[in-house]
Amino acid sequence: MSGNVTFTMIKPQAVADGKMGKIIDKIIEGGFKIKALKYTRLSKEQAMKFYAVHKERPFYGSLVDFMTSGPIVAAILEKDDAVAAYRKYIGSTNPADAEPGTIRALYATSLEKNAVHGSDSDDNAIIEGNFFFSEFERA
Ligand code: GDP
Repeated sequence: MSGNVTFTMIKPQAVADGKMGKIIDKIIEGGFKIKALKYTRLSKEQAMKFYAVHKERPFYGSLVDFMTSGPIVAAILEKDDAVAAYRKYIGSTNPADAEPGTIRALYATSLEKNAVHGSDSDDNAIIEGNFFFSEFERA
């Protein structure tokens, strides 16, 4: 059975571009309920850990530099079948392939600077949510 939570980040480029409010509105309009929300900045160690699955990839260093380049917004979202629903809603990793109207089609500026993160499995949604939020920080 699919879970009902996912985890997202609004990435530094989208925050720096002033799109934080528009993206949060769009998330809510999509029927995702915000269960936890945080404005923060990742340290290099945190970004390396968060993206450790990509550590052998050629873009890992660049991705870590980008993700630590400015503030991000982290959130836990709730909806039926949340992981799949949110990945569809944000669009393909590469914004050039993202469906019109998706968050990445609207706000990404490149493959790397693709506006938002969305968990790729129920297990990762739990791990990523726990990476950012304590029980006290959830409503
Ligand atoms: P996601 O699950 O759609 O976020 O995609 P991945 O897990 O495959 O990649 C994680 C993040 O790394 C993406 O969201 C992009 O920000 C970045 N990324 C993925 N592929 C590339 C690439 O080929 N080059 C660069 N520079 N960044 C990439």
